[in-house]
Amino acid sequence: MNNKKPSLEDIVSLCKRRGFIYQGSEIYGGLAGTWDYGPLGVQLKRNITNLWWKTFVEDREDMYGVDASILMNQKVWQASGHTETFADPMIVCKECGQAYREDHLDYAKPCIKCGSKDSYGAARPFNMMFKTNVGPIENESSISYLRPETAQGIFTNYKNIVDNFYPDIPFGIAQIGKAFRNEISPRDFVFRSREFEQMEIEFFVHPDNWQEWFERWLELIRGFLAMLSIPSRSYHEVEVEEKERAHYSKRTVDFDFDYPHKSDELLGLAYRTDFDLTNIQKATGKSMEYRPKDNSRPFVPHVIEPSFGVERLIMAVLTSAYAEDEVGGEKRVFLRLPENIAPVKIAVFPLLKNKPELIEKAREVYKMLKKNVAVMPGLQSLGEVAWDDNGNIGKRYRRQDEIGTPKCVTIDFDTLENDTVTVRDRDTTKQARVKIDELITSLE
Ligand SMILES: [Zn+2]
Repeated sequence: MNNKKPSLEDIVSLCKRRGFIYQGSEIYGGLAGTWDYGPLGVQLKRNITNLWWKTFVEDREDMYGVDASILMNQKVWQASGHTETFADPMIVCKECGQAYREDHLDYAKPCIKCGSKDSYGAARPFNMMFKTNVGPIENESSISYLRPETAQGIFTNYKNIVDNFYPDIPFGIAQIGKAFRNEISPRDFVFRSREFEQMEIEFFVHPDNWQEWFERWLELIRGFLAMLSIPSRSYHEVEVEEKERAHYSKRTVDFDFDYPHKSDELLGLAYRTDFDLTNIQKATGKSMEYRPKDNSRPFVPHVIEPSFGVERLIMAVLTSAYAEDEVGGEKRVFLRLPENIAPVKIAVFPLLKNKPELIEKAREVYKMLKKNVAVMPGLQSLGEVAWDDNGNIGKRYRRQDEIGTPKCVTIDFDTLENDTVTVRDRDTTKQARVKIDELITSLE
């Protein structure tokens, strides 16, 4: 088995042919920068976001979840600086109007759309927020935006959480949700899209302790990547230099992953100081101070922010899991997805589709697994047991390998004789004969 590094095309084509990810609105010619998740893609995505939520919210005592609205009062984005400065420098071709992001443009090359040379205009800032109006009247005061990040929905609820729960400090608020950026040039599959999902935490600490907590969060992030079987050799922790950091950040570490197209950002950890809470304080006149339970001096908490992009994680998971080998003289593509996130955990096959006695027995096994999978330790909430009777057994194995199903269970004529089934392992392709009575224990 070799761990071939896939090309972007390998990933895109596997995602399309096996029902993970499709181009958005494809049947109408598509809509640039949007992607739709098919049955396997949505399951993989949910498994990842559920694992994140369980790890960072449910399994911790210091974390509070929120699910804030995508549309927010425009004052949020004025106070946070997004209305003024959330912009990329844009260059437009004076001949045809093709827009480029300045940092993606090679001035030496002709326009990709019309072929003109030296037709590039001057750079001007392009605000990436999607603007809309709330209610029937279109005027300045009805302007709202599709949120460009989930973080502000957390900061605006900080006071609610403190007032309702009065947590010990440090504590965190977590959110998973959609965000939107009107990218000038979306590209590299789901890596840079206009609609995407974030998993973010704002972790509130006393300013004296930020360094300690920054280090702890680096460790927690590494642990989570390991749970997704993203090997540490495939990502690099990059200290972002001062001139490239957001002005409010005193320290930022980017986790760059070796994607098929290039090494680029997977997620980030930023120390945002008290920038956001003091902005809210200034803009609303409401105190954001935390009152320590030991009656020491109240203070505005500082913030450590781990920020994960769901689509980028999916790309990193697929790239890490992608493998090729040879089985019976033929090339095999398979995904070595960890069991905890594989969209299908177990596939059940009757050897032949047209033998009622095989089908009946196989349905029994399928139902038993389906009923038990939810209570199997280690397989909890891990979803799917799939039924597959389409094509010959070799084809079915191939299909399940490509979607990363760890185990396949086949019911054949011997099953009718002695109540045993064949359990086949995805990675080794080894098969073992297992008694139906012992099947669940053997899969644990
Ligand atoms: Zn042009």
